[in-house]
Amino acid sequence: MKPKKFHNHKNGNKNGIRMQIIERLFPNLEITPEEVENKYPPRDLEASAKVTRVAPSPTGFMHIGGIFAALLSERLAHQSGGVFFVRIEDTDKKREVEGAAQLIIDSLSRFNIPVDEGETLTGEEKGNYGPYRQSKRENIYKTFARKLVQEDRAYPCFCTVEELKEMTSQQEKNKSKIGYYGDWAKCRDKSDEDVLKALDERKPFVIRFKSSGSCKKRMEFEDMIKGKLSMPENDNDIVIIKSDGLPTYHFAHVVDDHFMGTTDVVRGDEWLSSVPLHIELFRSLGWKPPRYGHFPPIQKLEGHSKRKLSKRKDPEANVLFYDEEGYSSIAVTEYLLNLIDSDFENWRKQNPQTDNRDFPIRLEHLAGSAGPLLDMVKLQDINKDYISKLSAEEVLEQCTTWAEKYDEDLFRKLKENPDYSKRIFSIERGGELPPRKDIAKWSDVRHQIEYFFDDIFKAADIDFKKLLPGMTKVEIKRVAEKFLSIYDEQDDKTTWFSKVKDAAKSLGYADSAKAFKKEKDKYKGHVGDVAMVARVLLTGRTQAPELFEVIHCMGADRVRKRLKNI
Ligand code: GLU
Repeated sequence: MKPKKFHNHKNGNKNGIRMQIIERLFPNLEITPEEVENKYPPRDLEASAKVTRVAPSPTGFMHIGGIFAALLSERLAHQSGGVFFVRIEDTDKKREVEGAAQLIIDSLSRFNIPVDEGETLTGEEKGNYGPYRQSKRENIYKTFARKLVQEDRAYPCFCTVEELKEMTSQQEKNKSKIGYYGDWAKCRDKSDEDVLKALDERKPFVIRFKSSGSCKKRMEFEDMIKGKLSMPENDNDIVIIKSDGLPTYHFAHVVDDHFMGTTDVVRGDEWLSSVPLHIELFRSLGWKPPRYGHFPPIQKLEGHSKRKLSKRKDPEANVLFYDEEGYSSIAVTEYLLNLIDSDFENWRKQNPQTDNRDFPIRLEHLAGSAGPLLDMVKLQDINKDYISKLSAEEVLEQCTTWAEKYDEDLFRKLKENPDYSKRIFSIERGGELPPRKDIAKWSDVRHQIEYFFDDIFKAADIDFKKLLPGMTKVEIKRVAEKFLSIYDEQDDKTTWFSKVKDAAKSLGYADSAKAFKKEKDKYKGHVGDVAMVARVLLTGRTQAPELFEVIHCMGADRVRKRLKNI
């Protein structure tokens, strides 16, 4: 005889058994669905206001895609007069890493993503729809899992790991769909007596959702990014409560998004195939699902081809990378806005001073893209642009803050020489000409400014052969001596220039590149070659900011000493 189904309770005794089972599955669960409903009344917002969230798992790594999703969600909410909150999805205790939740909150703050509700930097929570950490909401999930069991939309499953493995390998062999469904769902039809017996034997169990879908039927839904989609219905009896009593992501996010009033969920494509399941879960609980939008994974270029940014292989997948390298979080944010909506670049050109919050992002612009492409060259350009607009004081301040964390030597140098450092950062900055865009990130600064410091700059290391090819030591010395003789720290830029031109001529060089081109035989070279000698002697390199400014910044003693240093 076929065993009676778990939900089959025709007489009082049966009812008694069921009550016993439910009590054993959810012992001491005092709270009722009504009480939960009362605790979280619907939000009092305009109909057009969006409530969005970011819901990362604290696994020790904050992917740049997570910041991308957070920024997108935050802007959608705030541009509509809604609410943006953060929920820590920490129900997978095996994968959880200590301190990771803090890292998430820190990252959101570092990238200037304002959070209305959720955990704050101090670890406290703000907002009326909490707790915002799933591990603190265990009883809420259980209340609704129990409701589903009572309504015969969920059941306990006692299958062991080995049994499930065996089932999967059978399915692989038969080329059947992998999963716990239809006839494969062994525990679905367990009789109440068998369930009670298993519970008596203290067999570990999970609670599974009883799907009423069929993979032969299709369901349609409107994705906010991809548009109308048609997918097979879910027919999998997924686990909703694990053996440790905690919910799975699928179940927990449904309960939370309902009670927290989420209206719009933007998340990665990896969740797209779960939409039919999520919608079925919402409906089985009598709730309205939020709107979903799925974006493709962030990509990067490798050679000429694109590939998904890899958490393992690519350091730039980790948000900490941007901090370590010394990218400004504002530049990264603007870069991400570019990836979200390519209109941003034009908008920024037309509104150079406006706060980027005023840029109205449109999700549709993400549609059809194979995946936002992370282009570090472009990011560096944006960061260069950002830094070029800062004053010398701001550069000093921000660079010092960075160095304090990541470059001890640089930090000491900047701290010990604040005025000199400020002069260095003032070079080609704040004048009439457009500022010099030389610093792409703070980690470049050390190399860029080290020659200004006597204890780092080593005249003996200058490779004249390489830097001034074709010029003899004797000639270099002659030019250097000439520079020494004309140098006067009182000179302004114009006087200095004309002096250098005269010096060039007196040494047998043309006073301009043009003049040299015309009569090459007549000259040894041109004024640029002469200036190059001074540049190499002063900085040890052929590429440096404008010579006059470098000289001015270094100060007379240092300049004289270096010009003599040959
Ligand atoms: N906890 C999920 C994750 O980290 C969140 C997915 C979602 O946004 O719904 O991927």
